[in-house]
Amino acid sequence: MSEPLVIVGNGMAAARLVDELTRAALGRYAIAVIGDEPRLAYNRVLLSSVLAGETASHDIELKSAEWWRDRGVTLKYGCVASEIDVGRRELKIENDESIAFSKLILATGSAPLRLGVSGADLASVHTFRDCRDVDLLLSLAAKKKRVVVVGGGLLGLEAAYGLAKAGAQVTLIHLMDRLMERQLDAPAAELLRTLVERKGIKVLLNANTARIHGETRVEAVELADGGRIAADAVIFAAGIRPNVGLARDAGIPVNRGIVVDDHLQTGAGDIFALGECAEHRGTCYGLVEPAYEQARVLARHLAGRAAAYEGSVVSTNLKVSGVGVFSAGDFIGAAGSEAIVLDDQLGGTYKKLVISGGRLTGAVLVGDVTDALWYLELIRTRAPVARIRKDMMFGRAVAMPSEAA
Ligand SMILES: Cc1cc2nc3c(=O)[nH]c(=O)nc-3n(C[C@H](O)[C@H](O)[C@H](O)COP(=O)(O)OP(=O)(O)OC[C@H]3O[C@@H](n4cnc5c(N)ncnc54)[C@H](O)[C@@H]3O)c2cc1C
Repeated sequence: MSEPLVIVGNGMAAARLVDELTRAALGRYAIAVIGDEPRLAYNRVLLSSVLAGETASHDIELKSAEWWRDRGVTLKYGCVASEIDVGRRELKIENDESIAFSKLILATGSAPLRLGVSGADLASVHTFRDCRDVDLLLSLAAKKKRVVVVGGGLLGLEAAYGLAKAGAQVTLIHLMDRLMERQLDAPAAELLRTLVERKGIKVLLNANTARIHGETRVEAVELADGGRIAADAVIFAAGIRPNVGLARDAGIPVNRGIVVDDHLQTGAGDIFALGECAEHRGTCYGLVEPAYEQARVLARHLAGRAAAYEGSVVSTNLKVSGVGVFSAGDFIGAAGSEAIVLDDQLGGTYKKLVISGGRLTGAVLVGDVTDALWYLELIRTRAPVARIRKDMMFGRAVAMPSEAA
């Protein structure tokens, strides 16, 4: 008889886990997935392209209804899992029955942060996380609204770009002195700012949101330095917080995320966590690739095979058309490393390669990102680069002509 395996969350990590698990151990588990969003799992990364009008919302589903059916998965969407009874091995679902499990997987993702400033609860203050948010943002843009996006990281930039492209007047405000400071060094961020402003987005740096004015709806955003930006709506894109409530209430150890070991096992037997809700060796990843790597390891482990997750090398790609941005590994350059830099601010290209111990350890590209995947592969595989060092900056085709051909 198949063992009941229940997954909470029907997002990207869950879909990949089911895919991997049904390949590795088809029939071993009777899988049920409980998701609170009202549709089949979709590619959340592509919400930025949907907002920018470059992809249709119905084209971002990860798997068809038949795919789930063919694998015998019981899908409950539009359902919130509300409590885990660890001792009885039961999951309670809001307004519904309980489901028994022999293995439980938490894949609950993250929630967007809202700043705790006055006015943050006004109507027309939104976030950018799911399909419903995209619909709201598109309706603002269609009415040519003045929108302030708070947060100059990847998400804020993609929200600002999508809104501007759809017709809104957008001001992007960022607390730090440069955009995407967690992925870019100062010259790369400066070039990015120029390229983003060319898309019609106004960028304000060192801008600390003090309060949002308005009676029932947003009227203006006030900054800590007294500056005031007239606005009809505010979008918070200032970070995420892992959804750990279910686990914490059940007595499962959590820090920032749900703490897992190298088998993605939580502190409770037969309960696992992966994706953005999980914290592995002190790190909560906010990207999809680590979630997919975790899914592969967890599927193998659940199939009874040897597998361990040891962490991920992360990389970032900005999805703003015509503004290529890539960053991976140690992009600043730790002590003892050296950097090869090409900085052509006027021509719109910045490249920095960080080398340490004869290996590529980090890369930042703005403008031309043609070789991003090659650099990422060099970083991940820790391949020696002494032989190609002098040509590496000019890309794979120049550095390794026989392999690139
Ligand atoms: C606009 C946007 C652009 C992005 N772009 C990139 C990118 O370019 N590259 C990249 O690597 N990453 C990107 N990300 C991040 C990426 O989407 C996430 O890392 C990925 O979706 C994480 O997968 P997950 O399954 O852990 O979480 P999610 O995909 O968020 O899935 C979690 C699911 O669990 C549900 N859930 C939570 N609690 C419960 C409960 N109690 N009961 C039932 N269901 C519940 C949630 O509603 C959600 O549907 C982007 C994110 C956004 C929002």
